Amino acid sequence: MDIEAFRKAGYQAIDRICDYYASMHERPVVSQVKPGYLIETLPENPPEHGEQFDAIADDFQKLILPGITHWQHPNFFAYFPTANTFEGLLGDLYSSSVANPTFSWLASPACTELEQVVMDWAAKLFGLGDQFLCKSKVGGGVIQTTASEGAIAVCVAARTRYQKLHPDAKLEDLVIYTSTQTHSLGTKAGLVLGLEVRALEVKAEDEYALRGSTLKEALEADLARGKRPFVVIATVGTTSSGAVDELDEIGEVLKDYPSIWYHVDAAWAGVAFACPEFRSAGKLDAVNKYVHSFCTNFHKWGLVNFDASALWVTDRNYLTDALDVTPEFLRTKQHDAGLVVDYRNWHLGLGRRFRSLKVWFVLRSYGIEGFQRHIRKGIEQNAYFASLVCASSEFELMTKPYLGLSLFRLKAPESVTAQGLAATNDLNRALYSRLMEDSDKLYITQTLLNGVICLRFAIGAQRTEIEHIDRAWKVIKTSAQAIVQAL
Ligand SMILES: *Cc1c(COP(=O)(O)O)cnc(C)c1O
Repeated sequence: MDIEAFRKAGYQAIDRICDYYASMHERPVVSQVKPGYLIETLPENPPEHGEQFDAIADDFQKLILPGITHWQHPNFFAYFPTANTFEGLLGDLYSSSVANPTFSWLASPACTELEQVVMDWAAKLFGLGDQFLCKSKVGGGVIQTTASEGAIAVCVAARTRYQKLHPDAKLEDLVIYTSTQTHSLGTKAGLVLGLEVRALEVKAEDEYALRGSTLKEALEADLARGKRPFVVIATVGTTSSGAVDELDEIGEVLKDYPSIWYHVDAAWAGVAFACPEFRSAGKLDAVNKYVHSFCTNFHKWGLVNFDASALWVTDRNYLTDALDVTPEFLRTKQHDAGLVVDYRNWHLGLGRRFRSLKVWFVLRSYGIEGFQRHIRKGIEQNAYFASLVCASSEFELMTKPYLGLSLFRLKAPESVTAQGLAATNDLNRALYSRLMEDSDKLYITQTLLNGVICLRFAIGAQRTEIEHIDRAWKVIKTSAQAIVQAL
């Protein structure tokens, strides 16, 4: 493809993307294809001779789009929202245009310096303390692919730090602490590093938040049997129910164990710190007072398309001590002189995408005020959804709604509750299965909270309006009536 052909195909691509967004609400939310649909359609071998690009581009419309679940659909309420803005999309396009792996400052100075600037902007947007700023030259922020990969980098840093403080510690005794509600990133980090993970219990009466007392008991018991907990992963806004761990209590307990790293995963909820009124419920003060590292995903609710996970540390040396790889051919005068950041030493890979560009585009285009407006809209819509649940006699909320997330379930009639929790769970499982039959109309997810099946309604897709929530609620109510009538 030459430049003129690219110009033509590029204009066509933008036109088609615009059409896709303009007509998205007419598409089924969840892809309705059957397993194997594409594998059976596409040839088994790559073409012998190059094909016309027109035909290739047409196949995206014809073959690929039907197999896409539309996360940007206004009726998408599953998992958590995944942001996409046109500004972010264009940022990705420009980033691809200068395609480079940007592993050192010298590899493309703009990529490294822009990342430092936008991570400082973002730290200030979210109210993080000065210790997290790149400008501090001690701490700093780095864009990771995902919160999961960031957590692995954090655990590696925490392990190196711990081993420096305790050279006698054996690897098999090291333990990663999470709660039972921590995202699977804790388990994943344990699998990757070959380390034990201990998931601490949480209780319904604490709204599924990890308490300091639970942590203290576990620490005392584990240390007594020779175990070496070296990192605690706490969460602001758990994936399952939006729980906020008791960060202050955890911080106070960890004061007595200074060699244990304290990481806060706020992958979904952290971007709400852009609005000062949501900082206290998310315990931002404790983040600033106690923790070694903090993560939030721009690519969930933060208007920047996947992937862009923001990770801040109070001391960059912990990351670079653990992850620095500088063979002779990667050495640069600027790095040796300590003048620049080489981000390859802050994450797991070597090469990295130029992600700061899309963050920059979005933050400039929206401004603080526009970013806040987006967050507040989702939270107001969720308050509205929660009010619908509360006002109905057939449903009940299962936790206090947090930000853009509500957990609810169908109240079982007495004949069912008399049979115990399992029967109520089955009823809600049946409701969920039925809702999945309507997955062209809406998409929500279910979860298990300490043995109780709940339905999860997550708001924050950019195109969702009140009318979409009303329509979704109607589908949920109709399905529930059918389930109850069939009893
Ligand atoms: C979604 C989520 C993650 C995982 O995010 P990735 O960036 O996909 O790894 C981690 N923690 C929480 C609380 C989440 O909600």
